[in-house]
Amino acid sequence: MGNDIYVKYTAFKQDELLKKIRMSISEKRFKHSLAVQKTAVLLAKRFDCNLEKASIAGLVHDYAKERSDEEMIRIIYENNLDETIIAFGNNIWHGVAGAILIKKELGIIDAKILQAVTVHTTGSSNMSLLDKIIYVADFIEPNRNFPGVSKARKLAKVNLDKVVKYEIKRTLLRLLENEAKIYPKTMDTYNKYVAGVNQLST
Ligand code: GDP
Ligand code: FE
Ligand code: FE
Repeated sequence: MGNDIYVKYTAFKQDELLKKIRMSISEKRFKHSLAVQKTAVLLAKRFDCNLEKASIAGLVHDYAKERSDEEMIRIIYENNLDETIIAFGNNIWHGVAGAILIKKELGIIDAKILQAVTVHTTGSSNMSLLDKIIYVADFIEPNRNFPGVSKARKLAKVNLDKVVKYEIKRTLLRLLENEAKIYPKTMDTYNKYVAGVNQLST
């Protein structure tokens, strides 16, 4: 994959896009973003997903993570996003508002990429292959180092749904231990991929 995919999916050439992202987030998060990009491409090859979309989505998934609370709240109001997310803080905002920002500032309009960025933190009850790949790549990229990451990496060699299941369960357990606010979409992901609830869509 060369320069072409950047021009195809964004308003910038590769070097311009990388510069823009690097200026928006810390060095550490920039490295994480590049690692998620690489990991997402590996997973896309393994599970037969669009490599180009996996690459771009992985690279930009945390683009909004270091914006001020003021800016994020303004984005939520201005774009008529669900106001109930305001109570949950930036960990929940940065995916949803991130999709708005990467469209506006990076010129990304592909619906699959925007959705994968939107749900990358919480997952959802109805994840596409690309959604799962970004959700999992974010969890297992080589810089990640937590108890259980090697198990997640092993599962990711074989079965993507098993990693989604492992990841949401572990995330929820940690959030409960910390008495954190559980965003309903996080519960939806748990109900679907761990507890086996098949939600009927209306
Ligand atoms: P990162 O942006 O690369 O650090 O990773 P993520 O976007 O996946 O997650 C950001 C943080 O949000 C992590 O610490 C997750 O555990 C946390 N998180 C995921 N779901 C929820 C939730 O429902 N509520 C809260 N409070 N945090 C969550
Ligand atoms: Fe994130
Ligand atoms: Fe991330």
